[in-house]
Amino acid sequence: MEDQRHQEGAAARPGGEQAAVPDPTLTEGAAPQLTVFVCAACGAALTGPLKRLPAVPEAPCRAWWEAEEMGPSPATVPSGCYAIETEPYGPPLVVAEAPGPVMPRHGTRYNVDGQPLVSRGPRGNIVMNPDDARGLTTRHASAACCGATPEGGLNQLCACGTLVATLCSDCCLPYELHLSPDHVRALPSPSPGSGPAA
Ligand SMILES: [Zn+2]
Ligand SMILES: [Zn+2]
Repeated sequence: MEDQRHQEGAAARPGGEQAAVPDPTLTEGAAPQLTVFVCAACGAALTGPLKRLPAVPEAPCRAWWEAEEMGPSPATVPSGCYAIETEPYGPPLVVAEAPGPVMPRHGTRYNVDGQPLVSRGPRGNIVMNPDDARGLTTRHASAACCGATPEGGLNQLCACGTLVATLCSDCCLPYELHLSPDHVRALPSPSPGSGPAA
């Protein structure tokens, strides 16, 4: 799936200092190939160039009950990166045999009968820092207090009106944006050029 082509032999351009492409022999597996995700329906870029992480990081712990202001937790995924969620995420939430996280990094949840719930939603979401997203607007799919929750499923609209992602940004939840792999396409990004300062 490494579909990298370099139409115009990107060797040293006048005035350019940076190496045009990373040495692929050094980067097998964790290639710093950058990816831009676009809306599958209209092609609009939904992210800047992102680097893939080997796994979704542990969500930072935040004592939201002690926070002076409500609002999102620190982002699970650092800016400029993404990772693939290997566990089911989002609805439907179904009764489980044994208690466990209702979905990754969300802690446990029970229905009104006290039975534990787990997600049976899709796998393979592209998890990223919500602050890296472009051109998305929220259409709440489930009740939230100060942000958005993933319990109702997709809640982020592309400018073309297509639901493409799920934002998780309410207080006391991990701060994540999940792009739906069925609604976005990954495009290899050209050389990072003057990347954003961290
Ligand atoms: Zn679109
Ligand atoms: Zn809140």
